[in-house]
Amino acid sequence: MICKFCDIQKTKELINFGSFPVCHKFSKGDKKIKTFKLGLSYCDYCNLFQISKPFPLNELKPIHNWINYNEPEEHLDNLVNTISKLKYINKKSIISGISYKEISTIRRFSKKGYDKNWILNPFKDLRIKDKKHNLETIQKRISSIKNIKKLKKTDVLIVRHILEHCYDIKKFINNLKKMVKKNGYIVFEVPDCEQSLLRRDYVMMWEEHIFYFTKKSFLNLLDKAGFKIEYFERYKYSYESILIAIVSIKNSSEKHSIDLSKPKVFFNNKNLVKDRLAIKKKIKKYKEKNYNICMFGTGHSALTFINILKLEKQIDMIIDDDKNKINMNLPGSSLKIKNSKILQNMNKILIFLGVNFESEKKIVKKIDKLNLKVKYFSVYKNSKYNLLKYA
Ligand SMILES: [Zn+2]
Repeated sequence: MICKFCDIQKTKELINFGSFPVCHKFSKGDKKIKTFKLGLSYCDYCNLFQISKPFPLNELKPIHNWINYNEPEEHLDNLVNTISKLKYINKKSIISGISYKEISTIRRFSKKGYDKNWILNPFKDLRIKDKKHNLETIQKRISSIKNIKKLKKTDVLIVRHILEHCYDIKKFINNLKKMVKKNGYIVFEVPDCEQSLLRRDYVMMWEEHIFYFTKKSFLNLLDKAGFKIEYFERYKYSYESILIAIVSIKNSSEKHSIDLSKPKVFFNNKNLVKDRLAIKKKIKKYKEKNYNICMFGTGHSALTFINILKLEKQIDMIIDDDKNKINMNLPGSSLKIKNSKILQNMNKILIFLGVNFESEKKIVKKIDKLNLKVKYFSVYKNSKYNLLKYA
C-alpha cells in the first residue's frame, strides 16, 4: 500500500492481526457480521505508522445512538490558558470547534469571557443527513466539502481527536486551513502511540484510527502539511498520553528537518504468536483452579484485546453496566453482555479490566467489596495489573 500521507512511499506491513468485526456492532442474537483485515504498516519516508487497509467507511457508521467515546480532559484548563495567551488572541477572538468533542473546551472559554464562539453544526454546516453518525462521517464531510470558504472563519480552531480518523488527511487539513483567519491558529490533539509501540500494547489498535502518531511523526506531518508549530506539549496520562500542537499557517515553503530515525517498535507476527500462547497458558492455570474468566468492559480496548489475542473461547463472561448493552451480543461473537450483579454469585473470578485508568479504580473498589477470590489483569500494559511482560 502507498502511504496515506506522502502518497509516494510504499508502506511496509509490520504485523497482521487477522480479521475482525467493527467494535461497536453490538446486536441481539449472534448474527453473522462482516469482518475485515486489521494490520499495522509503516512509512519510512514520513515515519508514520498507519492502518494497513482502512475498513470501508460505511461499515464504521454507528448502528446505535448510545455509543460515546470519552477522551481524558484533565489537561483542558491548562490548554485553554495556553491558547488565551497566544499572540493576537484576546476576548474578542472567535474560538471554534470542529465537532461535539470540543464542547467542553469551548465551554471553558465561555466561562473566561470569550463569548464569540461556535462549533460546526453537522446538519446545517456539514449537511450530514443521518442522525446516527460520528467522527467517520464528520471527517469525511470536512474533507470533501467544496465550498468550505462559505463557512464562518475563526481565530482559533480546535481539532481534538479526529486527525487520526482521517481517510484523506491532506484534504481534511486543506479545508481546515480555509476556515482560519490570517494570524489564526489550529489546535490539534491526537493520542500518543510511542509507549504503546514500544511496549507492544495491542489495545492501541482500533479500526477507526487510520494513523498512530509519535511525537516526531506528528510534528513532521504538520510541518509537511504547511504549518508552523507555535506550541507543542506531550501531556502524560496513565494509560495513553496525548500530543498537543498549536499551529499557524506557514507563509513560506520553508521546511524543517526533523530527525526521522525509526522509533522502536516490537509489534511483529512472531511476538503476536508468542503473546497469544502466553496469555492462554495463564488463563488455563486459573481455569484449572475453577476460576471464572471474565472481561469487565466492552469498549474498543476490551474488544481489541479479545480479538487480537483470540480470547473469545477462553472468556466465560462479559460484564458491562451500560444498560443499553445488557443482553446484547459482543460484536461477531456468541458472548452475551451481563450486568456486574452477576458477580455476586461467584466465588473465584479472574477479571480482565478492559477499561481506562479512572474506571479501573472504581471497578476494583466495587468488586473488592464483594469479598470473592479475585485476580485482576488489565488489558493495558501501563496498568499495575498488566498481564503480559514488556517487549
Ligand atoms: Zn509516507
